[in-house]
Amino acid sequence: MANAPRIAICGIDLESNAFSPPATEADFHKLCYLEGEAILADARSAAPRCIADVAGFVTTMDVTGPWTPVPRVYTHCHPWGPADQAFFDRTVDKIIAGLGDVDAVFVANHGAMLTTDSQDPDGDLLQRLREAVGPDVALVVTLDLHANVSTRMAEAADVLIAYQTNPHVDMFERGEEAAHVVRGMIGGALKPQSAFVKLPIAPPTTTLLTREGPYADLIDYGQRRKRELGGAILNVSVLGGFVFSDAPRAGMAVVVTGRTALEPAQRLARDIAERAWADRERFQKPLMPVAEAVAGSLQRSVEPGLPAVIYADSGDNPGGGGGGDTMELLSALVAAKARGVLYGSFHDPALAAEALERGVGAEFHAVFNRDPATRFSQRFEAEVRVCAVSTDPFVGRLGLYAGMQINTAPSCALEIGGPGGITVVVISNRYQTADPMFFEHLGLDIAMARTVCVKSRGHFRTGFEPWFPPEQVVEADTEGFTSPVLSRFDWMDLPRPVFPLDQDTDWVPPNW
Ligand SMILES: [Zn+2]
Repeated sequence: MANAPRIAICGIDLESNAFSPPATEADFHKLCYLEGEAILADARSAAPRCIADVAGFVTTMDVTGPWTPVPRVYTHCHPWGPADQAFFDRTVDKIIAGLGDVDAVFVANHGAMLTTDSQDPDGDLLQRLREAVGPDVALVVTLDLHANVSTRMAEAADVLIAYQTNPHVDMFERGEEAAHVVRGMIGGALKPQSAFVKLPIAPPTTTLLTREGPYADLIDYGQRRKRELGGAILNVSVLGGFVFSDAPRAGMAVVVTGRTALEPAQRLARDIAERAWADRERFQKPLMPVAEAVAGSLQRSVEPGLPAVIYADSGDNPGGGGGGDTMELLSALVAAKARGVLYGSFHDPALAAEALERGVGAEFHAVFNRDPATRFSQRFEAEVRVCAVSTDPFVGRLGLYAGMQINTAPSCALEIGGPGGITVVVISNRYQTADPMFFEHLGLDIAMARTVCVKSRGHFRTGFEPWFPPEQVVEADTEGFTSPVLSRFDWMDLPRPVFPLDQDTDWVPPNW
């Protein structure tokens, strides 16, 4: 097909927590590393391994006309520390080397990556792509709403399209949107003009939910104004940022893209930024101390009339760079002899392998964190019984991971304190427990639990909503790399002053 536009697809997707251990090449390969045609095959499969932005983009391109895909490299790693620089450089070289003449480039990046040598590798990638394809080729990027947008990123790309939901459930739609933007740009109907505003607000991750709260209000306002402006605006992205990247580009940002004109985009971007600033006091939220959480759990085990509760182990969220192996809340529940508890999921390959070998029904003295991965990986010992083991991947069914293939094998369920005590899920791949399948693939019934604890900060909310509406969700103040209590960290490169860490921060709107 001679006239089919050639569209490149690529992405290096990582959310970097500057305090977590580096993300190695092996970490990327373990979760998802696809080259060439394998990207298309995966994106078109029933349960893709790539993030849904890519699946949304590819399937939409497939149904909106002819195209010649130029799939380069797409790789994705669980949130962790900075990516290995040599791996990043090699991957970017590979992406650029095979581009050839293209009509557009689609990039699916998280947008809060660090590498061991760079604090703006997302900007490095986009700038290299722009230099390779020249100023007239469409460069369209999807970003997580936790992206830390830099000026370089905003300048290199034609359109930045951020998720609008947290928990993230609109990735497929954003990929779909990117495909329509690419079609519109190639056809000449769209000449996107973007306005970018950075705010000195670095919100704790617990304040960035989109169901309700200050962030929800901002996103809703932006989408409402976009509709009211009747076609002048192509995209409104309000990015909460990812404070734990501890980089000069960290923090909240507003990117508004006009269809053909810059001025309406600038006006709306400034308007949204001014509202965010006026509402900044709301980007603060108290957490429940561990002792209080344990007391609440004990109360539930003796009072059947009290509704069950789900606790977020918010300091140790593998979805934000947590190791998934801190013991603070579990050890407190065990010491208090809590009952009716389900707790998932502890990343401990050695313990999972041991349980698999001993088999279902075996009782043994379990040692958690026998090989500590980080400074938060405390050793913990308990008498356990193996209730279930699994050696198979499973497919997520609700929220962030819905339809995605998840491989935690081998995994197991260990019972502490006898039947009806505390049942702990142990996994061999570091994942946040954002989907009920983390329990269900081991035959555990969430409805039977009086207390559920999850190593996840917020994405579990959608996955567990059938059992736990918002009023039964509690964020526990636990230690770890993702503690929302920002004053606990030694910040090095976060721009200061920044709200809410520095309460007396000032900001002046752009003078456009
Ligand atoms: Zn995110």
